[in-house]
Amino acid sequence: MKNIIFLAPPAAGKGTCSEILKKEFNYEHISTGAILRSEIASQSSLGNEIKSNIEKGNLVDDSLMIKLIENKLTNINNSFILDGFPRTINQAYSLDNLFKELNIENYIVIYLNIDKSLALKRTLGRMTCPKCGKGYNIYFDGFKPNKDGYCDICNEALSKRSDDNEESFNNRFETYINSTLPILKFY
Ligand code: AMP
Repeated sequence: MKNIIFLAPPAAGKGTCSEILKKEFNYEHISTGAILRSEIASQSSLGNEIKSNIEKGNLVDDSLMIKLIENKLTNINNSFILDGFPRTINQAYSLDNLFKELNIENYIVIYLNIDKSLALKRTLGRMTCPKCGKGYNIYFDGFKPNKDGYCDICNEALSKRSDDNEESFNNRFETYINSTLPILKFY
């Protein structure tokens, strides 16, 4: 089975696709955004350090991210999906070196694209159940919860990501165009 790297703008669906592939084929889903959010939730020193950066939609330091991925991939036995890494050309070079060190040759890069206006609508409507992780979207039929604001499965109050507001989205999208999109050429 091939390892997968997703390259995509915010809210294109890399997290959703990753979860489907995980269920179907037992991939290890490595979402750097989810790892960082759980550091923030646990109020670790790393979490406190990166919180305001993430809320504003800025990228976290390359060296920190590279170390995080190094730790993850060094101990992995399954086929994996990278969701949210690499996001800069520097990260892409480092990942390439790491793959060489670990003899990882079997991978593909999947590029998902989406219009900025649709990505914004998805971002503003996105809600998640903090208990089971199920995702919803209040602006799209078929993705709305049965009862406004509550999970269909757990009946838990749904939550919103603190960076899913228009200002932070605009920054994330801009950062994607300037820092992440150039990686396409590299692959
Ligand atoms: P995501 O869940 O992929 O949308 O990521 C949420 C936020 O986490 C991003 O807007 C960044 O602030 C941070 N982040 C996630 N992955 C990376 C990465 N590879 N490099 C730098 N920052 C990242």
